[in-house]
Amino acid sequence: MVRKIYVKTILNKHKRRDSWFLDDYSLNPYQLCQYNCLYCYIRGSKYGENIADELAVKVNAVQLLEKELRKRALRMEYGFIALSSSTESWQPLEERYGITRKCLEVISKYKFPIHCLTKSKLILRDLDLLKEINKRAILPSDLL
Ligand code: SF4
Repeated sequence: MVRKIYVKTILNKHKRRDSWFLDDYSLNPYQLCQYNCLYCYIRGSKYGENIADELAVKVNAVQLLEKELRKRALRMEYGFIALSSSTESWQPLEERYGITRKCLEVISKYKFPIHCLTKSKLILRDLDLLKEINKRAILPSDLL
């Protein structure tokens, strides 16, 4: 049984832009990851060796993201959002809950650019939205 949790924030603003991926924000629609890869940097952290044990769905992620991106867009605080830094946005759970897809709809609505990291073919389901985001995204002015 997968836990469902309510989080206080969903969009993490970095103190400094990542120099490799150029993201200013990160977004983790789930807590931890079903894949539990041996090489994952999250393993051995506070979550221990089996990160799938603490797996959870962030059920209020979409509502929080809507609120946070509306505010950032009004202030023109555009920046790349990395999906994801400490989970796999397209892990098998996503087929059932669709949180990542709904987050992509919100990201497209507010025209933020994204950077995706995944090992899952499920990302292909969202190609329509990824293309839409690619067309609509507003880049931060210092990256133009
Ligand atoms: S898929 Fe990514 S987040 Fe998930 S366990 Fe593997 S490396 Fe970690």
